[in-house]
Amino acid sequence: MIALDVSINSTNPKTQTIWSDCLKVIKDNVPNMTFNTWFAPIKPVDIKDDILTIQLPSNFFWEWIDEHFSSLLNRAIKSALGENGKIDYIIVEEKEIEEPKIHIPTINIINKETAKPEQPDFESDLNSKYTFDNFIKGEGNQLARAAAGAIADNPGGTSFNPFFIYGGVGLGKTHLIQAIGNTIKNKFPKHRVKYISADRFTVNFIDSLQSNKGNEFNNFYRSMDVLIVDDIQFLIGKEKTQDLFFHIFNAFHQSGKQIILSSDKPPKDLKGMDDRLISRFHWGLNADMQPPDLETRMAILYKKANDFGMTVSSDILEYIATNITSNIRELEGCLIKLLANISLSSKEITLSLAKSIVGEISTSKKVNIGIDLITKCVCDYYKVDENKLRDKTRKQEIVLARQIAMYLSKEMTKSSLKTIGLHFGGRDHSTVIHACNTIEKSVLTDNIIKDSINTIKSKIEISCS
Ligand code: ADP
Ligand code: MG
Repeated sequence: MIALDVSINSTNPKTQTIWSDCLKVIKDNVPNMTFNTWFAPIKPVDIKDDILTIQLPSNFFWEWIDEHFSSLLNRAIKSALGENGKIDYIIVEEKEIEEPKIHIPTINIINKETAKPEQPDFESDLNSKYTFDNFIKGEGNQLARAAAGAIADNPGGTSFNPFFIYGGVGLGKTHLIQAIGNTIKNKFPKHRVKYISADRFTVNFIDSLQSNKGNEFNNFYRSMDVLIVDDIQFLIGKEKTQDLFFHIFNAFHQSGKQIILSSDKPPKDLKGMDDRLISRFHWGLNADMQPPDLETRMAILYKKANDFGMTVSSDILEYIATNITSNIRELEGCLIKLLANISLSSKEITLSLAKSIVGEISTSKKVNIGIDLITKCVCDYYKVDENKLRDKTRKQEIVLARQIAMYLSKEMTKSSLKTIGLHFGGRDHSTVIHACNTIEKSVLTDNIIKDSINTIKSKIEISCS
């Protein structure tokens, strides 16, 4: 491998063809996301004596590819060039054009004096830091991202109305729905776009009633072209607000104006939400957001580290991506903590620093999660009575729920085996060990159990975040 600071243009016309042949083999062997992240950015440079030289954008890329895909690349080059085929790498760092930036929440201030006449007379409450450009695609958000793009191109004009996305905390729902709003505002400056969380919507509505401005509130929302309501689950139990929202929803839908909603669960699981609303949430498109897989987590860390202007070696990024698995907010939080640590003391980013930060993040989470909450979430999910988990029942579905609750208590809290056993009807610590082993095995072989556990985990995390 050699490092160059200029790009070489191949004179050999075979270069591109051979590389395309390699890409075909690679594409058949890796998921799309992996392909797009790690192979699409590679440029073929030259071919000489059965050696294809390819250009990678950074050292980090080279390390990752060399470690994870060298045998695949070998196979690919041999199938394209025959047994003597080999690959050589060069690294050409593409300089970031943008200044490194750290996300600091922006405060929107409207200057009335200088406001242009066509500027709307209200705050859309969108945060301009959320864009499609800085939203990283992965298997878990593919559908949601694609639909979001289509809506931003043609608000109200697709069958995705309402657009309803759901998923656990920190998976990018707010980012994505705000990116739609920001894009629409850029593309269609005359469109009135409003973003609000369901929580705030409720508070503002109640305020408006108390100050006899209920009509004004209603008319204000009806005057929008695009309405984005975040965390719609917060309307649960707020009957009056749901009723108002129902009428606003109908007015929007009838006049073909775009409604965009996010939620922590799919419409059918929104217990306590008006059935009329739930059925309307199904009218358009429901898209779920899943936790990112390892490749996507690596891509996110790599991109964000770059955005922050940080240089972090691949083994450190890999350590973080392997140990922080549940959501993107935590991945980002980990980088920010690393950044804070090194900028305060001009320390180097080392693996041991990364380990201690990852440790802190996991512990602070564990403090808030208790066995009772875990038991409740497991029982809600399997629709079984919590008391049954504590008594002697050996019915199959109860045993499964009990074992999962024990397994999650071991994994998500700092409780000892003895304490866990006590919570489940005074069972012995060896019963807890047996439960954990059984579930660990099932997770590896049974996708239904694996998915159920992931869903329950994200519910637990939402409940205590
Ligand atoms: P949610 O609303 O689902 O709880 P957020 O949209 O608030 O999650 O995302 C949490 C953080 O992670 C935000 O800072 C967001 O910018 C970032 N983030 C989430 N998904 C992505 C993604 N796919 N690409 C880049 N950043 C992301
Ligand atoms: Mg959110």
